[in-house]
Amino acid sequence: MPLPKAELHLHIEGTLEPELAFALAARNGVTLPFKDTEELRRAYDFRDLQSFLDLYYGLMAVLRTEDDFAELADAYLTRAAAQGVRHAEIFFDPQAHTARGVPIGTVIEGLATALDAAERRHGVSTRLIMCFLRDQSADSALETLESAKPHLHRITAVGLDSAEAGNPPSKFREVYEAAAALGLRKVAHAGEEGPAAYVREALDVLGVERIDHGLRCMEDPELVERLARERVPLTLCPLSNLRLRVIDLLEEHPLARMMDAGLFCTVNSDDPAYFGGYVGDTFHAVREALGLSEDRLRELARNSFEASFLEDDEERRARLIAEVDAYDFGVELQE
Ligand SMILES: [Zn+2]
Repeated sequence: MPLPKAELHLHIEGTLEPELAFALAARNGVTLPFKDTEELRRAYDFRDLQSFLDLYYGLMAVLRTEDDFAELADAYLTRAAAQGVRHAEIFFDPQAHTARGVPIGTVIEGLATALDAAERRHGVSTRLIMCFLRDQSADSALETLESAKPHLHRITAVGLDSAEAGNPPSKFREVYEAAAALGLRKVAHAGEEGPAAYVREALDVLGVERIDHGLRCMEDPELVERLARERVPLTLCPLSNLRLRVIDLLEEHPLARMMDAGLFCTVNSDDPAYFGGYVGDTFHAVREALGLSEDRLRELARNSFEASFLEDDEERRARLIAEVDAYDFGVELQE
């Protein structure tokens, strides 16, 4: 049995495996610019964030109906549950779909169909986080929030993702204030490709509760000290950093140094279909590459539940943390 964990940094669009992409393309009459799944997999050799984003948004053309989104989410939950995920807070990018003529209600209600059944079918509790594309305008983000209003009961928080460089958090101050007024919680990607200063802005200008990625905080000792003191969760994605060339080797990933510095770290998969592994694979990879002890792995798993938005179900949170504390790594090694 794998170590129980929560996944807090997962883009549902980034779970689109080549096989499902081709199946949905056939169903929806969409022609993909790839001969087969093999040729598509070969296109996953990214130079940087932008080259990934180009392919990522291109492939989304196959997602058109509520059933497509439900199938996508259910496929993720099946894989995640098999790797020990017991709670998942799932990002989605409405603008990437509305720009193609897919209504926001189709996206949200499709995902919700799979999420509503997730606890029964997979033993995974879920929350939905609506992300704004930071390379789009602040007005577009505001329009997106407005159009999501009929579906707000499905959404727990807002987030900020896509191309970071040149798109500082402060650009989205107004939409984050509006989201908070609607009772939504707040997270944002910061300090992945962008500088440590963007992490400060996300905290001070947007008032986020978690930083997605944030590893570039390590360039700013004062910020590290503050993040540790305020126990701000960081949702790190080591395999993503490797595939997008934020680091050259997994052995160079700052995760262990960040934990040594007292930072509140979690490990996640980001866009697992594209980055070579789901969250259990990621735990295995960092354990190998960084020589993490069982205590460190347990700390990461415990952190994932502590940092999750489970305030409305503290009983479940406590039960899951107790499972982490009682977890026997010997069992896993014998498998
Ligand atoms: Zn991400």
